[in-house]
Amino acid sequence: MLMNYMEEIVSRYLDKILKDPEYASICKCNFCKDDIKAMALNNLNPFYITTKRGEVYAEYSSYEIQHQAEIIKEVIKAAEFVSLHPNH
Ligand SMILES: [Zn+2]
Repeated sequence: MLMNYMEEIVSRYLDKILKDPEYASICKCNFCKDDIKAMALNNLNPFYITTKRGEVYAEYSSYEIQHQAEIIKEVIKAAEFVSLHPNH
């Protein structure tokens, strides 16, 4: 199975950010969440991995730690943009 692991990371950080009281005003509907993810992913490099059962994450955690600051920055930027321009 081929997957873009960056999608996993972005979804996880987005969920964390949406729980943060600082970002309470950001809409949490599925349209906005997908828009935020799409926008962040377009600004980040994809990170394709192959996995048999979707459980290979431990070996990629160093990649995630290395790129954490950049990923969080892009997710927040996308969340702020989408909350000003919601698609609904
Ligand atoms: Zn929304």
